[in-house]
Amino acid sequence: MLVKRGIPASPGVAIGPALVLGSEDFRIPNQFTKVDAVESEILRLRYALEKVCRELEEQQRLANERLGQQYGAIFEAHLLMARDPKLLADIESKIRKRRYSPEFAASLVLRRHARKLKELSNSYLAERATDIFDLEKNLLRHLLGEQREELSQLTAPVVVLAHDLTPSETAGLNKQFVLAFATEGGGRTSHTAILAGALEIPAIVGVGSFLTDVSGGETVIIDGDHGEVIIDPDEECLARYRENAARSKSVTERLQPIGHQQSVTQDGVPIPVYGNIEFPEELEHCRLRGADGIGLYRTEFLYLGSARERTEEDHLEAYRQVVQAFPDKPVVIRTLDLGADKVPSQQKLFFNGQPNPELGLRSIRLSLSDKALFKTQLRAILRVAALGDVRVMFPLISSLAELRQAKMLLHDVSEDLAEEGVSFRGDLPIGMMVEVPSAALMADQFAREVDFFSIGTNDLIQYTLAADRGNPAVSQYYNASDPAILRLIQMVVTAAERHQVPVTVCGQMSSDPKFVPLLVGLGVRELSVTPQSIPQVKAVVRSLAIPQARELAERALELDVASHVETFLRGELLKICPEVVL
Ligand code: PEP
Ligand code: MG
Repeated sequence: MLVKRGIPASPGVAIGPALVLGSEDFRIPNQFTKVDAVESEILRLRYALEKVCRELEEQQRLANERLGQQYGAIFEAHLLMARDPKLLADIESKIRKRRYSPEFAASLVLRRHARKLKELSNSYLAERATDIFDLEKNLLRHLLGEQREELSQLTAPVVVLAHDLTPSETAGLNKQFVLAFATEGGGRTSHTAILAGALEIPAIVGVGSFLTDVSGGETVIIDGDHGEVIIDPDEECLARYRENAARSKSVTERLQPIGHQQSVTQDGVPIPVYGNIEFPEELEHCRLRGADGIGLYRTEFLYLGSARERTEEDHLEAYRQVVQAFPDKPVVIRTLDLGADKVPSQQKLFFNGQPNPELGLRSIRLSLSDKALFKTQLRAILRVAALGDVRVMFPLISSLAELRQAKMLLHDVSEDLAEEGVSFRGDLPIGMMVEVPSAALMADQFAREVDFFSIGTNDLIQYTLAADRGNPAVSQYYNASDPAILRLIQMVVTAAERHQVPVTVCGQMSSDPKFVPLLVGLGVRELSVTPQSIPQVKAVVRSLAIPQARELAERALELDVASHVETFLRGELLKICPEVVL
């Protein structure tokens, strides 16, 4: 049994057989082979290994000829490994004694060798581990032949373990077969993690290197609540997790009806809880959980998996679905937030290999630099606004000039629509995300020029603490409990109160129940959260009284270390609403 810790990205527990995605997406379909097939399986292994050796000989010959002996030597080293009788004997004995399939046995033996090499302090030998992975890949390619399977062609439930999944791969996961996933890379608020939440698949990211410890087919537990990946769990552990999963399911089921109750504090202050969505398909999740509206529609996901431009009609159709699902409730449509780790299929179109995309031409900057793209979207938003309580929101605003330019374009577009005689609503509320420290610092000035603020803590944290939200190597620096974040939120809320501008928090922070009393205590009166969290968040709101929340926020602001804030908030949540603590 092997336990690995990562960053919990999407809640829930799943237990199932591992599907390991290497760079070539090989899947080992069976861990075991039948007793009467052992000898024929060994023959299949030898045949595949022989093919690998022939290929390597040919590659060595070509490399010698074209590049010189020193390059040919690389393949010679691979050949020596492939021809090592001890290696073959090792794999064969696993097939005979344990009845492992040749694929599983080969992967197990080769990965074990690679791991030993990696652990050596000699860097030359440690690098040879890569050669072993190459050999493994070649051997699996021959063993699996046509059976190589893609993620999109799954036929049985699996737990996906991968180095990384792009947002589009994640969006394409088939919920029927993918029980959960864990990745070596990624951060808590990376868009892969956000999409896992959207799909409601338990997920852990940022586990660090662990794929060498798995071959595929082993039983794996993904504990998305606590960020644990357990490979080959023992019976006692399995039983414990099955029990936990049942308990967590019953807590979720128990809280479910609360989603449909009014989100109001003990002393009668309403704190509406909206849903964050990426796709119109999530509207059903929001409706079932009792969302009070849509507080953040991330429209850039319209571009996911497509290199094609989106037309005004494409936008309009998607937005219409959202407005029709919540006809008399607020729907906040955020304009395109393309860039950084989002929607990689568009990278070629928009980014031209910028060195640091998180600080580059992304989001509103990109929209302002491509006016045709932006106006197409703005036209659709103004048109759909005629159908419901639609509000428009600009992301990543960092200066007043930028906000004014965006508002000016909105105005131009409404003039065009009026001239064309197209039905639209021009006086819809205009809001902005506060997710860049400069916007928080200038909140007083911004508050005079917008109808609402929505604090995007996901980006606000990364830009304030200089910690990339998608990079596990700096995940310990990326912390919503940091006193600097608390102070920035306080600044924004205070400025907004002065100008009577409503403030929502729509970053992941508001989906975490322990932050709800703090945010309410700081003066936030609307929350927008991942649909799964709506019942929990409402349960906390309904257990709170405003003076109690204010006092809690004051005490939190006195703490000057993130870990102290975190411990304090956990303890308070346990007192305020123990039923949401798993
Ligand atoms: C945020 O930054 O907090 C936010 C809600 O926007 P996104 O996660 O889409 O960047
Ligand atoms: Mg953001």
